[in-house]
Amino acid sequence: MARHIILAALILLMSCSCTAASSAVSARTEPKRGTAPVPAPGPAGEDKAALAQRYIRAYPDFFVAYKGGYLVTKDGGRILFDDGKAKDFDGMIVDTAVGDDAFDPEDALHWDYPAGEDIPTPEKPPVGDPGRIRPAAVFEYMYGSTAAERKGAMRDVQWVDTIGGKPKKIRVTTVNGVDKALTRVSHEIMNLPDDKKKALEGIVYRVEGPYGYYERPVRDFPGRTSGHAYGIAVDINGDLAYFAGGHKGEPYLYRNNVPRFLVEIFEKNGFIWGGRWHSYDAMHFEYRPELLMNGQSSRRSDSSVNCPR
Ligand SMILES: [Zn+2]
Repeated sequence: MARHIILAALILLMSCSCTAASSAVSARTEPKRGTAPVPAPGPAGEDKAALAQRYIRAYPDFFVAYKGGYLVTKDGGRILFDDGKAKDFDGMIVDTAVGDDAFDPEDALHWDYPAGEDIPTPEKPPVGDPGRIRPAAVFEYMYGSTAAERKGAMRDVQWVDTIGGKPKKIRVTTVNGVDKALTRVSHEIMNLPDDKKKALEGIVYRVEGPYGYYERPVRDFPGRTSGHAYGIAVDINGDLAYFAGGHKGEPYLYRNNVPRFLVEIFEKNGFIWGGRWHSYDAMHFEYRPELLMNGQSSRRSDSSVNCPR
């Protein structure tokens, strides 16, 4: 019964040309990567020193400088910023045999993340997958290279909805203040006016989930660690989300039911949204401030990133 009410609300919410509302409740089948063609990325348009600064600004607890082609870590270590290898990004995004250690920090910034911009539509789907690449050297250094190391840093954050009269929780890492950033997101949602909260039914209210920390590789990519395993990712709605490849045998079609104001709350607090990926994953948000710090970019100014409308 509740499901039908949610579904009805969803249908009302969907002003885009999303067809077949029943597919919105098409269960929690995971995306099959590779079914969506990935367009060729454009050049980053920044020099390496400027790109490297994004990590230093985004993760001041870990990175202190960029020197001689390396990110210098707080404890005196260094991580090669750009291995200089020409990479076939189409192949790397769809090739399930390629693991995280094939990527360097520079690769992860290959696609600009379009923070604050319009929500993609079926007619204007996202270009590239900014944030789906997580270089192992950087992420294992910060969040832990083993499950035991990562697990020790997790904390439960109170989420916006209740279950059985008790607040829901999401487990995320305390490293880099991810737990605090998610708490701010949670508070901002709880402080929204009633009409906006109502619009979030079936998205963050009255849904299965949310899901946070979970030790697993990226689905279909056994060599890539999921953002969930680092404790930096959140899936807001378990069973009512759209994702690329969720409609087998059909041509690529971008679909989404997450409203812009919700995406902006997350982006303002350091989280990117999987709905801005060509291989879209509209339930997925991930703490990736380095992708929201492109103030040096020739294409966007800091203000458009830090102060989304
Ligand atoms: Zn996810």
